[in-house]
Amino acid sequence: MHCPFCGANDTKVIDSRLVAEGEQVRRRRECLACEERFTTFETAELVMPRLIKSDGSRQPFDEEKLRAGMQRALEKRPVSVERLEAAIVHIKHKLRAAGEREIKSRVLGELVMGELQKLDEVAYIRFASVYRRFQDLNEFREEIERLSREPNKE
Ligand SMILES: [Zn+2]
Repeated sequence: MHCPFCGANDTKVIDSRLVAEGEQVRRRRECLACEERFTTFETAELVMPRLIKSDGSRQPFDEEKLRAGMQRALEKRPVSVERLEAAIVHIKHKLRAAGEREIKSRVLGELVMGELQKLDEVAYIRFASVYRRFQDLNEFREEIERLSREPNKE
């Protein structure tokens, strides 16, 4: 890359190491022309596929929406935040590993169900029973909110 001090084309890497638990490469570079030193950080660009909804419309992957949907299913269940976050990481890995630019939103739904099944059977059933009918995380969330607003029938 160009030297940020003099704009020369040639810089050499004089040190390279992994940082941020291996998520980042820190490189120390030196300009061959002016001999100034500078540091660059390199990270993988993590592009998530877009989701194709059942009506054919596309929407960007929304991690917050995913988290909110899973949290609702896990409400009052004995599952730690750490385990939920690990499940979200698994889901994102699988979506990226598919290597597609677009993916059906129901594929995401199936991944969520797979993870919930490992975390907590009750949460899985909650999610699956509603999700199978809606096949869309947003609609699922709205349905759960509607259900939680309803007074208990006794
Ligand atoms: Zn330079």
